[in-house]
Amino acid sequence: MYANWEAWERGMKDIDDKIGAFAELKGSLKNGPDAVLKAYQLFDQIGMLEYKVYGYTALQRDVDTRNQEISGKFQRVMALFAKLGTATAWFTPELLSVPQADMERWIDATPALQPYRFTIVDNYRQQKHVLDEKGERLLSYAAQFGSTPKAAFQELSTSDIKFPLVTLSDGKEIKLTPGAYQSVLATNHKQADRGKAFDAYLKTYAATNNTYAAIYNGVLQRGWFNAQARNFPSTLESNLDGNAIPVSVVSTLVDTARKGTAPLQRYLKLRKKLLGLTEYHLYDGSIPIYKTDQIYTYADSRDSVLASVAPLGPDYVAKYRKFMTGKQVDVYESEGKRSGAYVMGIYGVGPYMLLNHNDTQDAMFTLAHEGGHAMHTLLSHESQPFVSAAYTIFVAEVASTTNERFLLSHLLQKTTDPKERFLLLQHAVDSIVGTFYTQALFADYELQAHQLVEAGKPITSEVLSNIYLKLLKDYYGDAVTVDELYKYTWSRVPHFYNSPYYVYQYATCFASSAKLFKDMTSGSPSSRSAATERYLTLLKSGGNDHPMKQLQKAGVDLSKRETVQAVVDQMEELVAQMEAEAAKIQ
Ligand SMILES: [Zn+2]
Repeated sequence: MYANWEAWERGMKDIDDKIGAFAELKGSLKNGPDAVLKAYQLFDQIGMLEYKVYGYTALQRDVDTRNQEISGKFQRVMALFAKLGTATAWFTPELLSVPQADMERWIDATPALQPYRFTIVDNYRQQKHVLDEKGERLLSYAAQFGSTPKAAFQELSTSDIKFPLVTLSDGKEIKLTPGAYQSVLATNHKQADRGKAFDAYLKTYAATNNTYAAIYNGVLQRGWFNAQARNFPSTLESNLDGNAIPVSVVSTLVDTARKGTAPLQRYLKLRKKLLGLTEYHLYDGSIPIYKTDQIYTYADSRDSVLASVAPLGPDYVAKYRKFMTGKQVDVYESEGKRSGAYVMGIYGVGPYMLLNHNDTQDAMFTLAHEGGHAMHTLLSHESQPFVSAAYTIFVAEVASTTNERFLLSHLLQKTTDPKERFLLLQHAVDSIVGTFYTQALFADYELQAHQLVEAGKPITSEVLSNIYLKLLKDYYGDAVTVDELYKYTWSRVPHFYNSPYYVYQYATCFASSAKLFKDMTSGSPSSRSAATERYLTLLKSGGNDHPMKQLQKAGVDLSKRETVQAVVDQMEELVAQMEAEAAKIQ
C-alpha cells in the first residue's frame, strides 16, 4: 500500500488537496455530462486514496492494538473522512436537481459515464423518499439523538452491568462475564453447572429488563419515525429500500424457517440422546458430543481449502493459491493482535486477510470462509471499475459460505472414519443452526416488535419477552425444555439495538449459497458448468446492480419459497447422515 509512514502522510495530504478541488466543482453539474464526469472521476480518486490511508493504519492497528501512535494516526484518518463527508454533502442534491431524463440522455451520449450509470440512476430511484430542504434539515437535527438507544444499550450492557458470581460443583467461584459464561456452556460437562450458570447469567438481564425494553422501544420508535417521515408504509420497507430488496424476502424467510423446524428438532433430540441427557435445555447446545485430538495445522488447512475449490476452475484456484501463499495474510495469534478473522479489500492493491489460526477444525473452516471473502473481493476489484467494485452484505456472505460448503464436501470425500465424519457433519449442522435458524428467529422477532409499534401498541418488557418465548416454543417444540428465563434473551442481542433488520441477511445468504452449491455440484456436466460460470460472474460483479438482481442472474430467487426450503432439506439430509455415523461409533 505504502512504503512507509512518509508515503502515507503524502496520501493524507493528497486527499486534503482533492477535497479542496472537489468543493470548487459545486454549482457546475448543470453544465452537462463533462462536468458530471469530472466530479465522479475526482470522487473515485479520493475514494481509492481513502481505502489506502484507512487500510494502512487499520491493519497495523489490528495486529498490535497496544500501539498508541498508530491509534492516533487512525483518529486522524477518521477526522479527515468526516471533513470529506461535509465537503461533499452538496453533490447528490445538486446531481438530482438535473431532471432524470436529461441525465439519462447525457449518460447515453457519453461513453466515459457508462460505468456510473447504475449509481446515478439509483440516486434518482431513492429520490422519491428525499424531503425538501426544510424537511431534510429537520431530519438531520433528529439524527443527532437517533444514536441514543445504541449508546444507552452499550452503557447498560457493558459499563453498568454487574455480572454475577457463581460457585460451580468443583467449589470454584467464577464471575460470569459473557466470555466466562460461553466457556462454561462449551466446556463444562456437568449439566447442573451449565444450568446454574445460565440461571445466574439471564437473571442479570431480567433484573434490568424494563430498562432494556425502554431502550429498545427507542430503536423501534426511531425506525417508525424515519419510515413515516420519508413516506414508507412500514419500517421494513424503509430499511430494505436502500438495496431495493422486496419485503417478501423477509416474510418468505421467516415463514419457511418457522415451518421447517422439524430437522432442527431432530438434531436436538439426537444431541440429547448422544449426550445421555434426560432433559435437553438450550444451554446444552454448545457442549461437544465427542472429544477429538485432531490437529489442523495452517499448512494442512490451506492445502484442503485450496483443493476443495477445484470445481471453480483453474483460474480461480491459481489466483487463490497466489493470494494464500502471499504476504497479505496474517495467520497466527500474537500479543496485542485483535481477535477473530476478517478480510479487508483495498482497491488496486488487493485483499488483506487477518486470522487467528489455532489448529482446530473451526479455524480451518474460518480459513475457507475468509478465503471466500478474499476471492470475491479480488475478482470484483479485478473486473469492476472503482465505482462499482464494492459488494453489499446481501451478497457478501454468499461467497464465504459457498467456500465452506466446498471444504465440507471435499473433507467428507476424503475420510471414512465415522467419528471424523460425524464431527464434520456436525460442523455443517451447527452452522445451519447458527446462521440460518437462529437468524431467522431473530428476524421474526424484529418484525413482530416493529409491527407492534406501527400499530400503535405498547412496548414493555413483558410484551417483548412473550414474543420471544413464543418463538422459542415454536422453533424448538418438544425437543427442548424451554426455561422461562430464556424469554429475556432478546435484551442482550447487540444487533437489535445497533442495526435493526440486519441479521436476516445471514440467513438469506446462507440459503443462496445452498442453492448455488447444489446447482454447481449436481445435475448434468453442462448444467453444472453453466451454474459455475454464473457463480463466477456473480463474484466478478461487485456492486454493479441491486443485490437481489445480481443473485437472480446467478440463478437464485430469494422471493421464492423453494430457495429457502433448500436449507431445510439440506439440514434434514445432514442430520440423517449424522445419525448413521453415530450408530457406527462405539
Ligand atoms: Zn463472513
